[in-house]
Amino acid sequence: MKNRIGIIGGGQLGLMIAQAAHRLDAYVTVLDPASDAPAFAEADASVTGAFDDLKALERLCEASDVVTYEFENVPGDILRHLEGKYNIKQGIRPLFDSQDRLREKDNARAHGLEPPRYMPVPADMSGRPLEPETCAMLSAQERMIHLGMAAGRMGFPCVLKTRTLGYDGHGQAVIREMSDIEKASELLSVPCILEEMVDFDFEASVIMVSDGKDIIHFPVARNIHKDGILDLSVVPASGLQRDGKENATCRKMTSACKEFMRSCGYKGILAIELFVKGDRFYFNEMAPRPHNSGHYTIEGCTTSQYMELCHFLLGMPLETPELKAPTVMKNILGQDLNAAKLVVAESLRGAGPGIEVSSSDSVNNAFCGEAGKGVFVHLYGKTQSRPKRKMGHVTFVPMTLDRYYSEWSARFI
Ligand code: AMP
Repeated sequence: MKNRIGIIGGGQLGLMIAQAAHRLDAYVTVLDPASDAPAFAEADASVTGAFDDLKALERLCEASDVVTYEFENVPGDILRHLEGKYNIKQGIRPLFDSQDRLREKDNARAHGLEPPRYMPVPADMSGRPLEPETCAMLSAQERMIHLGMAAGRMGFPCVLKTRTLGYDGHGQAVIREMSDIEKASELLSVPCILEEMVDFDFEASVIMVSDGKDIIHFPVARNIHKDGILDLSVVPASGLQRDGKENATCRKMTSACKEFMRSCGYKGILAIELFVKGDRFYFNEMAPRPHNSGHYTIEGCTTSQYMELCHFLLGMPLETPELKAPTVMKNILGQDLNAAKLVVAESLRGAGPGIEVSSSDSVNNAFCGEAGKGVFVHLYGKTQSRPKRKMGHVTFVPMTLDRYYSEWSARFI
């Protein structure tokens, strides 16, 4: 009888978890609200239902020996109910801790990771955050006063973020001077936090998997964002390595992240995003699921973040990942989909009728394979493409950032 894995969320992360699970001969069931969710194409069974639909979630859990999640905003009370009845092996704590930026940063600080300076807004006179219902009732003028006072204390520039449901720069406003307050204060109808803007050298992510005893981590990626969305992950990360090995800053960073994970008692997978400045680093956010910046591990490492999550879920020993060669991962958003399809079309030159090298139309939105030597294209099979929507990624191995810029970047927007 096969081991049965259930995945809450059928996006690209669910798809790649399912692909790894199948390599380990597991049976995969996926739940997602969208009937055309990318992971459904890979799954053995699917449940179409909302993330707050208890009956649908229970159907998924009943069909699974062990359950994981790739979607972070399943309501807390539903998760608590499920955790009591089913084998959600990572537990719901890391998910709960990451769902609110204030709780997340308080928790990071309590367990030894330093975030940028932050404060809740709107807050009362003693600095305690106002309840959501009170925030909703504030007038435009009151919101501006709250934010103006907080920004005055924080100093410019600073960043305002909604505490919940923000991602990829959504629900955020950069405040460089007093005249930015009015526009930014529109966010304050819900609870927010205000952070100092860190003048970092670069961003990095540490991805770890723990079986409760040992913690492995993947080679740390240097992440380059465009318009608040991850564009490139580069490994090894310049600034974090020396002679092909982790330098002192990197070692300090990975051991602080592991200590954090251990001290929180988290198991399974955890990705931590950091801002790096000189030999210091600041906690930005965490995600208890595979991470966009870890896509590179599929072809760039001896084992991937998806495979190690599945090893954990199935109770198999964890493998320590090694980097095979320098790697660059390019995120493919809607605006780059045709360029990525063209890369596939070119590689299929001469593959038969219907494939035109000069046209991306002959390649469909789902593809996973090597399109030219060392060029690994993943198109997730999403039916609707939009600018800024994550449609796929391309991993180049071996590849350096300089070579990527000179040979490849011009092909993408
Ligand atoms: P987040 O959704 O919090 O990861 O923010 C998206 C991106 O905005 C980050 O990857 C950074 O590039 C930038 N950002 C967010 N917070 C800060 C900060 N406190 N200082 C500087 N840049 C930030």
